[in-house]
Amino acid sequence: MNTSIINETHRYFAPQLNMPPRLLLGPGPSNAHPRVLQAIAMPQVGHLDPAFIGVMNDIQEMLRYAWQTHNTFTLPVSGTGSAAMEAAIANLVEPGDVVLIGVIGYFGERLVEMASRYGADVRMMAKPWGDVFTLEELHAGITAHQPALLALVHAETSTGALQPLDGVGQVCHAANCLLLVDTVTSLGTTPIFLDTWEVDAAYACSQKGLSCPPGASPLTLGERALAKLHNRASKVPNWYLDMSILSNYWDGKTRSYHHTAPINSMYAVREGLRLVVEEGLAERWARHQANAELLWEGLADMGLSCHVTDPAHRIPALTTVCVPEGVDARDTAVRLLNEYNIEIAGGFSQLAGKVWRIGLMGFNSRPENVALLLTALKQVLDR
Ligand code: PLP
Repeated sequence: MNTSIINETHRYFAPQLNMPPRLLLGPGPSNAHPRVLQAIAMPQVGHLDPAFIGVMNDIQEMLRYAWQTHNTFTLPVSGTGSAAMEAAIANLVEPGDVVLIGVIGYFGERLVEMASRYGADVRMMAKPWGDVFTLEELHAGITAHQPALLALVHAETSTGALQPLDGVGQVCHAANCLLLVDTVTSLGTTPIFLDTWEVDAAYACSQKGLSCPPGASPLTLGERALAKLHNRASKVPNWYLDMSILSNYWDGKTRSYHHTAPINSMYAVREGLRLVVEEGLAERWARHQANAELLWEGLADMGLSCHVTDPAHRIPALTTVCVPEGVDARDTAVRLLNEYNIEIAGGFSQLAGKVWRIGLMGFNSRPENVALLLTALKQVLDR
């Protein structure tokens, strides 16, 4: 072999990695729990190793608990929350299907974009960013559009608003419509009762309420959703996200290869879910609510107000704070990062420059983080 023809141009000796110790109090990712980081470092095994199959089974069962569902099809999709979102759309939407999407923020808009790429006849119901739909409004939308699928975002991370879901599934099913719900910011942080609410399909992520790094994102499909998938006239147009093939790997019978599972990311999800199970859902939801209220009180003491005015419609894990007149939202966030190693985020699109987004998710939802953030924010704003 003539090695003299090797081109050395890109032989870049990168320095040893040395990342700053950020406290991630934005809309996600949130800091991973130390036990999750330990789990990721466990030895790799093969994706068909019996030891890994045990990991998969554990994840599925604990996810059912976290989501409060008995759905057999419950698993993490390889990829971030958007991969699970796209999997839901790709599998449940056929060209020409009427898909009604409730848009109360950016992630509703993303659902519109995805559903239209999969050939849906997309109908939109929109409200100002920060509002939520009433059951009556959703009922009226379903009656007017007669959709095959209604998609809603439970916790709209772009606005801080929490969409009530009680009764929505029942209204959908009376009209022969499936209900798909985005629980990316609510899983592991906010009360969710998928089966009681008759939600047919839901997806989430790992990097928020589950205290993991991003990379493996839960998806669950109930009986009605599976019936839609199995009775499709056309193949799922996305091979990687075709859940009818992937389920052969996850369902315990054939375990046939589809793609190589991200082994260590699954270790992380397993540990993140173990933490949920150990704490218990009631305690975990109460902790997120209590720390959110601590934050809201501290912000009020500083004269700051929340963008979502009704506390009952605020996401406990993600607060949008109105930026006061004359304050540069971006500059504040940059200074918190550079001077205090704290990450928060600004708003975007309709809320650009108008709000900060503060996350208290999973491992990061702790009183000491609230105190630290309030102190740092006060110091930055006072200067
Ligand atoms: N849906 C919601 C409500 C989100 O907040 C996010 C990300 O923040 C997503 C979907 C997309 O997830 P990801 O960025 O992990 O792809």
